[in-house]
Amino acid sequence: MTAPARPAATLVDLHCHTGWGSGDSHTDPNVLIAQAKAFGLQGICITEHNQLWDAKRIEQLSDKHDFLVIGGIEVDTDIGHVLVYGLRAPRRFIRLPRIEELRRMVDEVDGAMVVAHPFRKRAKPATTEFTSGHALELVEQALELPFFDLVDGVEVHNGIAGPLERAFAGVVAGERKLPTTGGSDTHRHPEVGTTFTVFPGGVRTEQDLIDAIKAGEMRGADWDVEGIHDRRLTSLLPRYAG
Ligand SMILES: [Zn+2]
Ligand SMILES: [Zn+2]
Repeated sequence: MTAPARPAATLVDLHCHTGWGSGDSHTDPNVLIAQAKAFGLQGICITEHNQLWDAKRIEQLSDKHDFLVIGGIEVDTDIGHVLVYGLRAPRRFIRLPRIEELRRMVDEVDGAMVVAHPFRKRAKPATTEFTSGHALELVEQALELPFFDLVDGVEVHNGIAGPLERAFAGVVAGERKLPTTGGSDTHRHPEVGTTFTVFPGGVRTEQDLIDAIKAGEMRGADWDVEGIHDRRLTSLLPRYAG
C-alpha cells in the first residue's frame, strides 16, 4: 500500500473499540473517526477484543474519511491484555494465547506489541497501598514481572486508568526503559482521544507505526501533558466554543 498524500499523523489514539467488533461497545466507527478528527487527532487504531478487522475494511474506512485508520487487536493473555499491531491472523482467537506464544506470532510477522493497562487489576491494592507506605515495595515487585521482557512498550496513558495507575505504570516503564503509549480504550465515541500517543516523526502507514513503536520513537500522552488545548469539550458542546 502506498502512503497517502495527507500529512503524517503525530497524534494517534492507539486503543479504540467499536460496536463492529467488541461486544462491550456500541460505537459506529464512522462516528468514532469523525469525533477523533474534531478533537484534533490524526489517526486511530481499532483494537477489538481478540479479533481483527478485515484489512480491506480498514482501508475503506481510512479512504472514506481521509484519515489514518490502522487495524490492531487487543488480545487476552495469561498476563492480561496486550495490544498488537501488524497481525493478520487469526481473525479471531478462539483459544487465548500465553504471552510467549503471542510474542512468537507477532515476531513472525514483524509486528509490535504493547502491554495494555498493565496495572488495572494490580492497581487496586497498589493505589490504596500508596498511601500506606508500600509504594516502593509495589514498584519493586512490578519491576520483576517477567512479561516486561516480552513487550515493545507499555500503555501508560490508558484513558480508563486513573492518575495513580498511570503514574505507577509510568514509573515501571521508565525503570524498565520501555517506551510508552497512550490510547483512550474508548468504548463510546465521546471518549476517543482522552489519551493518545505522540509520534514526533509522524506515521503514515501501519508499517510506520510498527517501526516507530519498535524504535521507541513515541510517547503516551494526554492534552494536559502535551500542553495542547483540549478541543473535546468545545467540540462536543459547540455553544461553549470561543
Ligand atoms: Zn483491555
Ligand atoms: Zn481495550
